[in-house]
Amino acid sequence: MTDGQNGSGADESARREQLRANLASVEQRIAAACAAAGRSRDEVTLVVVTKTYPASDVKLLSGLGVEDVAENRDQDAAPKAEECSGLNLSWHFVGQLQTNKVRSVLRYADRVHSVDRLRLIEALSAGVLKAEREPLGCLIQVDLGGESGGSGSGAPESASGPGRGGARPADVPDLAAALASAPGLRLDGVMAVAPLRGPMAGRPDLAFARLAEISSRVREVHPAATMVSAGMSGDLEQAIAAGATHVRVGTAVLGARPPLG
Ligand SMILES: *Cc1c(COP(=O)(O)O)cnc(C)c1O
Repeated sequence: MTDGQNGSGADESARREQLRANLASVEQRIAAACAAAGRSRDEVTLVVVTKTYPASDVKLLSGLGVEDVAENRDQDAAPKAEECSGLNLSWHFVGQLQTNKVRSVLRYADRVHSVDRLRLIEALSAGVLKAEREPLGCLIQVDLGGESGGSGSGAPESASGPGRGGARPADVPDLAAALASAPGLRLDGVMAVAPLRGPMAGRPDLAFARLAEISSRVREVHPAATMVSAGMSGDLEQAIAAGATHVRVGTAVLGARPPLG
C-alpha cells in the first residue's frame, strides 16, 4: 500500500475532498443517532480505522481534524505511526494482539481495545514498566458470539468465528480486576464487535445492549471504566442507541478495503 505515486498534488487533493465528504456524512450519522437516542453529540468519539490504508491518508485525516485513529495489525501500524509521529493523533490498537507484538505496539498505541486474556495483561503491564512510558489505556474486548441473550448457553467458546478474539462475558470481572491492579495499565472500559455467528448474529442491537449491561456491571466496581467501544460502519447507529462512547469506523470514511490476502 505504500506506493510512491500518492504524493501527486491533484490526486492528493481529490483524496482529501473524498475523505472530507465521507467524514461529513459519518458525522451526520453520528449526530442523528445521538439526537435519536437523546444523547449529546459530545458523548461519542469517532475513531477512524485506517487499517490497510497508507500513511498519506492518515495525514490527510489529521489535516481534516481527525484526532483518533485505529489499527488492527502491528506490522502495518508500526511504520504508519512512525511516519505520522509528528501529528496530533491518538492511536488505538483494536486487533488481536499476540504477546510478542506488545513491545512494538507500546511504542505508538495510546489505547488497546482488544485486551482479552490474563497473559496479555501481564505482558502489557511488564512492557509499559520496561518502556518507562505513560500508562496504557485498556479496554476488555468481549466475545458476544457465544451468548444466547438469556436462555441457556452451551455454545462453543469462539462462536463469533475464528480470529476475532474477545473474552467470554463470564471472565470479564476477573480480567477487570487484574487490569485495574496491573502497574502501568488503566482500565478504561469494554469493547465488542457485533457477532457474525451465534444467537445474536445479525442483531447488533441485542449485542450492544448486552455489552452495555456488561459495562455497567464493570462500572459498579470500577467507576472510571466508562468507555464503551462499539459500532462500525454498518452498525454505528445501533451502538450509539445502546450507549457506545467510541465508534470505530473504517469503510464509511476511507472506502471499501481490498480483501485481506
Ligand atoms: C476493521 C475494524 C473496524 C472498522 O470496520 P468498518 O466496517 O470498516 O467500519 C472496527 N473495529 C475493528 C475491531 C476492526 O477490525
